[in-house]
Amino acid sequence: MDLYEYQGKQYFARFGIPSSPGGIADAAEEAVEQAEQAGYPVVVKAQVKVGGRGKAGGIKLAGNPGDVRQAADAILGMDIKGHTVHRVWVEHASDIEKEYYASFTLDRPAKLHLGMLSAAGGVEIEEVAATNPEAIARLHVNPCDGLDEATARRWVDEAGLDEVARDGAAKLLVNLYHCFVEGDCDLVEINPLILTPDGAVHALDAKVTLDENAAFRHPEWELLAGTESEDPREKMAKEKGLNYIGLEGTVGIIANGAGLAMSTLDVVNQVGGAAANFLDIGGGANAAVMTAALEVINADPSVRSILVNIFGGITRVDDVATGVIEALSSVEIRSPIVLRLDGTNAEAGRALLAPHLSDRVLAEPTMLAAARRAVELAR
Ligand code: GDP
Ligand code: MN
Repeated sequence: MDLYEYQGKQYFARFGIPSSPGGIADAAEEAVEQAEQAGYPVVVKAQVKVGGRGKAGGIKLAGNPGDVRQAADAILGMDIKGHTVHRVWVEHASDIEKEYYASFTLDRPAKLHLGMLSAAGGVEIEEVAATNPEAIARLHVNPCDGLDEATARRWVDEAGLDEVARDGAAKLLVNLYHCFVEGDCDLVEINPLILTPDGAVHALDAKVTLDENAAFRHPEWELLAGTESEDPREKMAKEKGLNYIGLEGTVGIIANGAGLAMSTLDVVNQVGGAAANFLDIGGGANAAVMTAALEVINADPSVRSILVNIFGGITRVDDVATGVIEALSSVEIRSPIVLRLDGTNAEAGRALLAPHLSDRVLAEPTMLAAARRAVELAR
């Protein structure tokens, strides 16, 4: 889950990472109130979960209430790369001496955490990486060791941050690492991390991606869950308690077990199709779960065929077949559906299903044949 900049800054604050005081507003008058609180001059910033807001005109400095009103009016409702701005963050404007870049993410091939630090911040890091890669100091951190201040300080030296910024930056980076690890983030990024004329180092921007697999130990994340940028299909699936990820293709997938669901995506791909989603209905493929799964897939306008791939292990195929039959009687399916049911009690399951088959509800004996059929039907 990506956070808005203001949420990211609030998250940072819990780990002692400083940023400017400010407040959120969804109307111009409210923005003026927030500006009075923060103290002039202020900066009015579009809150959308996409970068490059500055270039798009979504960030404006304002020195008085009239300017704030004008800035908020211009920014609210603005479209930035397909995201409509519904809220602005108004914070006390900083004087900027230097703009740096700092981030932590996971380096999967190296099986280590990766910190990136650069004295050339403020511009997109992809651009720095492409044109001036040696300007980025990379630091691998072993999660078993963590990051201590001495190591952070050497890293800051290597990145060539200004002398006055070095101690402050090292402290901040240790805190940012804590935020990344204890805060269960997939990504923390500060661009720009600034040095002010009085030698302070703080976060002018915040990009935080939370690792949703850790949500069980963060009940407070509930409050952060914004719904507007969420895939509507994923939102619906979440409400129904399904393990669903929306994709770009046209073949809706229902499978039991994450491994089988992923293999199903691969096989659909292999025979020239593209899956519309990943959906693992888990072990208990009963009527209620099957109904919920079909409802979610049915609501996806790009789905043109549905592939149900169930392998009965502990789950018995005759129970699954009963669930499918019940689900089909309660959900009006838009697209043809191909069923591949195999495993424990497969014969009994297929026998139950036989009277329900038609040119809209088909059965295939193997995963490959079922994928071929579903892909053909999606054409
Ligand atoms: P992004 O464009 O979406 O990454 O938004 P940022 O929050 O990074 O802001 C973009 C740019 O706006 C920064 O790199 C700064 O140059 C400028 N900016 C943002 N806040 C301030 C501020 O408080 N004071 C000044 N002088 N410039 C700011
Ligand atoms: Mn930025």
